Amino acid sequence: MAKRALITGITGQDGAYLARLLLDKGYDVFGAVRRTASINSWRLEEAGVADRVQLVELDMLEFSNILRVVEKVGPDEVYNLAAQSFVATSFEQPIYTAGVDGVGVTMLLEAIRACGANSRFYQASTSEMFGKVKEVPQTEDTPFHPRSPYGVAKLYGHWITVNYRESYGLHACSGILFNHESPLRGTEFVTRKITLALSRLKQGKGGAVRLGNLDAKRDWGYAEDYVAGMWLMLQHSQPDDYVLATGETHSVREFVELTGRALGMDIEWQGEGVETVGIDRTTGRTVVEVDPRFFRPAEVDLLLGSPRKAIDVLGWKHTISFQGLVEMMVKADYDRVASGTLRF
Ligand code: NAP
Ligand code: GDP
Repeated sequence: MAKRALITGITGQDGAYLARLLLDKGYDVFGAVRRTASINSWRLEEAGVADRVQLVELDMLEFSNILRVVEKVGPDEVYNLAAQSFVATSFEQPIYTAGVDGVGVTMLLEAIRACGANSRFYQASTSEMFGKVKEVPQTEDTPFHPRSPYGVAKLYGHWITVNYRESYGLHACSGILFNHESPLRGTEFVTRKITLALSRLKQGKGGAVRLGNLDAKRDWGYAEDYVAGMWLMLQHSQPDDYVLATGETHSVREFVELTGRALGMDIEWQGEGVETVGIDRTTGRTVVEVDPRFFRPAEVDLLLGSPRKAIDVLGWKHTISFQGLVEMMVKADYDRVASGTLRF
């Protein structure tokens, strides 16, 4: 009989890629969506899985609903990807973020426990929990110091997952994933914001992109590689916590420069601080400006992960380089803008 997987957050970036991976492996995939006026299904459509997943209504803030869904689906594997996932919004909506990203995880774990279901459980934890980093690179043993309500809420989700594993013997894993991007990334995140804005600018359909902290550094990987790691965690006989990362870090500035290069621009930086601008030397046009509205009350300056444990224990590896990732995202956005097929 086919295995049954329940994915919360199936309409998000990772949800679409994970659904495709599991369907290709022969799973019956149940995708949890929250009720809205119209379902945000563009990623499922672009990933080619919209007709192959079975959607169920689920909101991470409603225990009775979560319990009924877990009872009805009877999943072999639960992937908890649902979250208010944008750090900047978490400063504006800290209480909502705590509910969905923190307490919501407990609701899902309690539902699994209450149903007596033998489901394996994956929790989407994050490198944002390392925040003001205590060592470089960060590993599973690095102490946490989150710098946003998002990071704090996710830290609760991480520890409650560990606690249910230790208390009740659940096969529950926490994947501490570093930033991962793709053509399906939300446009509010800095990578997609850059590839989309510069693709528009190149085609005469928009002006300079306005960014915040250009010097923040992230360990950016490709989302499809990372969802494969989620699946590997749940296939291992012993539940555990794993970092997934590329082991390389790059600044927002570098991301802008490579995006420019992929579009035939040659971006040079002029000025300091909020006066910094990025000029395309081939046209003399300003293509990047700094806008303090995008600064954060507390910043995560540098993330760099060590995926050693995932490589050694799970045989996981990333397949797309930083440059390959930027070029893939630029191509997708350039083509969408050119053909008028851009969806959000
Ligand atoms: P995403 O694109 O923002 O997707 C988030 C998903 O959560 C969406 O499907 C969203 O539904 C759903 N959701 C939000 N609030 C909900 C609620 N109250 N009830 C039910 N569903 C709700 O995020 P992603 O990039 O795919 O990331 C997947 C998970 O990994 C998230 O938990 C994220 O925090 C975590 N993570 C991501 C990264 C990364 O770099 N991408 C790194 C580490 C950890 P709508 O479509 O209706 O909004
Ligand atoms: P995060 O690592 O989950 O916060 O992912 P983001 O893509 O939102 O941000 C990555 C880094 O880029 C952070 O350090 C941001 O401060 C920085 N950044 C600089 N300018 C921007 C911007 O305009 N939008 C976003 N989202 N981030 C920006």
